[in-house]
Amino acid sequence: MNIHEYQAKAILKSYGVPVSNGVAIFSADEAKAAAETLGGPLWVVKSQIHAGGRGKGKFKELPAEAKGGVRLSKTVDEVIANAKDMLGNTLVTVQTGPAGKQVNRLYIEDGSDIERELYLSALVDRETGSVAFIASTEGGMDIEKVAHDTPELIHTFHVDPAAGYQAYVGRNIAYALKLKGDQVKQCVKIIGAIYQAFVEKDMSLLEINPLIVTTEGNLKALDAKVNFDSNALYRHPEVVALRDETEEDPKEIEASKYDLAYIALEGTIGCMVNGAGLAMATLDIIQLYGESPANFLDVGGGASEEKVTSAFKIITADPNVKGILVNIFGGIMKCDIIAKGVIAAVKTVGLQVPLVVRLTGTNEELGKQIIRESGLNVIPADNLDDAAQKIVAAVRGA
Ligand code: GDP
Ligand code: MG
Repeated sequence: MNIHEYQAKAILKSYGVPVSNGVAIFSADEAKAAAETLGGPLWVVKSQIHAGGRGKGKFKELPAEAKGGVRLSKTVDEVIANAKDMLGNTLVTVQTGPAGKQVNRLYIEDGSDIERELYLSALVDRETGSVAFIASTEGGMDIEKVAHDTPELIHTFHVDPAAGYQAYVGRNIAYALKLKGDQVKQCVKIIGAIYQAFVEKDMSLLEINPLIVTTEGNLKALDAKVNFDSNALYRHPEVVALRDETEEDPKEIEASKYDLAYIALEGTIGCMVNGAGLAMATLDIIQLYGESPANFLDVGGGASEEKVTSAFKIITADPNVKGILVNIFGGIMKCDIIAKGVIAAVKTVGLQVPLVVRLTGTNEELGKQIIRESGLNVIPADNLDDAAQKIVAAVRGA
């Protein structure tokens, strides 16, 4: 689960990481009050969306030369004008995809004077089974380019989970970031605070880009992006409360209500599969035959007819879907349950696109019989290869 920058900063602040003062707002009127409360002389107006690259982003509704989603402002009037420019408009960044994201919230912050922009992140490194910190002196808006062109400027550090955070890790990071004097002490403290926040809140990723050295020589987190491990959310109702469903794909929200593992993708073939591995193989084989999947969907091992019905409805509700492939290997999952669920769904929502069904395994014959007798226009397939070719041919109108 993702949260907004201002929410991430509030968490970091509560653990002792220095951040600027700021106020989150939803309207231009609130922008005025926020700017006056903060007092200036420099403010930053920041679009709050669940995607990075905002500074270099572009608003769809504004002329191409208009500034991006993070804007420095020198007067209260400028803050208000920038807020009006952003609120309700669609920000397109390298991370949003071409559709962009509507900006509904802003964060108005006290502006900082920057000496250097550094990069710092923490993540779960599965290879070493520990939390890893990644640090670079080359922070700011071009970190992806740095990683690509000069990977030697990016340094990784691990925290031994048995020993916990030790100051030497923070010192090593400070030296990699070319920090001096009191900044080293500040860094040791900040890394410790981040580690504690990361572990206690069950984060899976925390990125501070940039971590800045101010002109006064102090460290501060100027941006913050946090992902939480969804499987641990039951331990953190305070984190769940930060969820902003307007930032999420409505199909994924619907799927989560039925405990379906669903991820929206960009293609045209809707997929309903049981088992994550088979679902991945299905996505691959669709691509092999030249089309792209509209989603990943694992209905799980012991899904009920109701769950299958809702899964099918989510797939058909996607306007990009030009064909559907149901690929079931009946183990614990029974083929007749899938067949009944599909038919129940088709009866309520109709079937506007070709449907290929491949059923094999437990209760296979019964499943096939149910589909045959339903009178639905279903294209049966014998195996995965056959099924993929048939659905690709069907969406191409062959
Ligand atoms: P992102 O583009 O989504 O990563 O948004 P950031 O919060 O990282 O802001 C983008 C850039 O705006 C930063 O890399 C800074 O260069 C600049 N910026 C953000 N806040 C301030 C500030 O308080 N003062 C100054 N001078 N620049 C800022
Ligand atoms: Mg940033």
